Amino acid sequence: MSALLPAALRDDFPILSGNVLDGHPLIFLDNAASTQRPRQVIDAIRNVYERDYANVHRGIHTLSERSTELYEHAREKVRAFIGAEHTREVIFTSGTTASINLVARSWGDANLQPGDEVLTTVMEHHSNLVPWQQMAERTGAVLRHVPITSDGRLDMQAFEELLTERTKLVAVSSVSNTLGTINPIDEITAKAHAAGALVLVDAAQSVPHMPIDVRAPDVDFLAFSGHKMLGPSGVGILYGKESLLDAMPPFLGGGSMINEVRLDGFTPAELPAKFEAGTPPIVPAIGMSAAIDYLNQIGIEAIHRHEQVLMQLAYDALSQVEGIKILGPTPKDRAGLISFSFDRIHAHEFAQVLNDQFGVAVRAGHHCTQPLHALLGITASTRASFYLYNQPEDIDRLVEGIAAVQKMFAPRGRRRKRKQ
Ligand code: PLP
Repeated sequence: MSALLPAALRDDFPILSGNVLDGHPLIFLDNAASTQRPRQVIDAIRNVYERDYANVHRGIHTLSERSTELYEHAREKVRAFIGAEHTREVIFTSGTTASINLVARSWGDANLQPGDEVLTTVMEHHSNLVPWQQMAERTGAVLRHVPITSDGRLDMQAFEELLTERTKLVAVSSVSNTLGTINPIDEITAKAHAAGALVLVDAAQSVPHMPIDVRAPDVDFLAFSGHKMLGPSGVGILYGKESLLDAMPPFLGGGSMINEVRLDGFTPAELPAKFEAGTPPIVPAIGMSAAIDYLNQIGIEAIHRHEQVLMQLAYDALSQVEGIKILGPTPKDRAGLISFSFDRIHAHEFAQVLNDQFGVAVRAGHHCTQPLHALLGITASTRASFYLYNQPEDIDRLVEGIAAVQKMFAPRGRRRKRKQ
């Protein structure tokens, strides 16, 4: 258990000790959807509004200079966190979804022709499917999907077969938000590059939880969200290689993204401003920077080890539950989340009872992976996802809750039998 982080970390998160559930302590296991924020992030946000706030890159006055400095400092913080070479390669967006749409619109529309192919996978979040479907409608390019094996890993043999000279981009998540599968991004990137394709990684579920270096495995684009890594909502990142971003046309037009505007046209600004039209997410970006400080202080490797212990404990305990179907691979290739389903009990019923009677917050539904659920022959699942403030006791509570729900929904005959 030495890999566990101290339980006292929970005290940094005011909402976790607040009275959310009328007396119940809150067990928050919905971190893959969005995490909570430590006091340090909340303070950083309040400080900007109380002391430093003005619009950025505009006014020649003290507050604008201060907020511009904080905003650009946040960009540098993100750059260092993901190992990018230049801050010009770090674009602030509103989140993973916006980042992927930016690439699909800007790079996709400029580079894809009828007959070209984009290769994605059946385990993707809708954010890494729908923008490519829309791109295919606009450009005539074809979307192909790598299947999964029966144990929820990417079928790498099928990947190699689907990867051809027609493939222009591979768009893949580093960690599945439903299966928990950690995908082999190194191998995928090496093979895609060898075939002449670019690689976009949806890193929404990996950047908050495990070390990342965009230069090894040398990905071309990487997208993630601030709110899944202790930061505020409304901010995310698109990392792109400078040579690619430089060659791409701006996506949104407006203020800040131009060098010069005439009535008959404009010249775009240099990177990164070219892709940050309008007033950017100033305070969310500064809050994200404080979140990165917090994560760095604990150490992302230590966070990953902590979650691996929790995931293994949860996997072992849930595997013992009668009638449960755990989605995704064994712990070896799994990140800190577990989705499961039961034949007779709907995920929503599970989540409701877990919340109301046990104070355990989990996610129930399709988790924005409808095609994956359809493939697995289910419409919904229940997902427990862990972060640095969870402890083994939280998993005990989850398992206790699951046992209680099962009892509650057990067929009448079996219930009577148990009482005898
Ligand atoms: N990709 C994955 C793998 C996710 O888990 C999520 C959110 O759950 C997203 C993309 C979308 O992130 P956002 O809603 O922050 O844009």
